[in-house]
Amino acid sequence: MMRDSYHKIFSETGRILVVMAHPDDNEIVCGGTVARLIDDDKKVRVVVMTNGGKGTKDRTDISEGQFAKIRVEEQRRAGKELGLKDEEMFNLGIPDGELEESIDNIKKIVFHIRQFKPEIIITHNPEVHINSFSKGIHWVNHRDHRHTASLVLDAAYPYSRDTAFFPDQLENGLGPHSVGKFLLSDSYTHPDICGLEVSGYLDKRRKALEQHVNGLSKEEVNGLMEEIQRDGGNFELLRYIDTD
Ligand SMILES: [Zn+2]
Repeated sequence: MMRDSYHKIFSETGRILVVMAHPDDNEIVCGGTVARLIDDDKKVRVVVMTNGGKGTKDRTDISEGQFAKIRVEEQRRAGKELGLKDEEMFNLGIPDGELEESIDNIKKIVFHIRQFKPEIIITHNPEVHINSFSKGIHWVNHRDHRHTASLVLDAAYPYSRDTAFFPDQLENGLGPHSVGKFLLSDSYTHPDICGLEVSGYLDKRRKALEQHVNGLSKEEVNGLMEEIQRDGGNFELLRYIDTD
């Protein structure tokens, strides 16, 4: 029987940073949880690394640049449905599929950690190349997802904490900051998986997913709403790590 870990994880937490690879990943991974956190008066910031411009599938009527603009706009509309403030939604505009584990990209995340000062970060799974949902159900952990997660963990430790890294940020008014708590997606078979009950936020979650008209089909939205159903509730599943 799955229990709701929301209070255990977030009761002492006021600020949550979500860092995702693509414009629709926040809604897919934790849309209900984000809506619940905002409803619970927590401060939430969402940073998306890439612009999603290569998700055109078989469309040839639109350029990567045009498509990216649409995807980023859809990210904004989806975030609004969850209750995110305009000033807490970011897209770093890195080309889709081309996110590298560079110092430059670590620095971009460090900026948000030092400015927003989160206590918990929600991101992807950096550890595996093949995700497993259950026996026989696997998929490739997208390169942008793996790299996003690695960049986030590196940014949190030690780059945000140590003043020797990116001192130009500190000169501009940002302070060093450390984060020791993380929630990772795509960890369904991990022993530390936690369930976050989102039954009160299903409408918001669905509406947010539906804003990704060019990212997700109706069938995909339905599938994403069904896959969180378990044990008579609706749970978004994340692996909780507390290194503090
Ligand atoms: Zn993605």
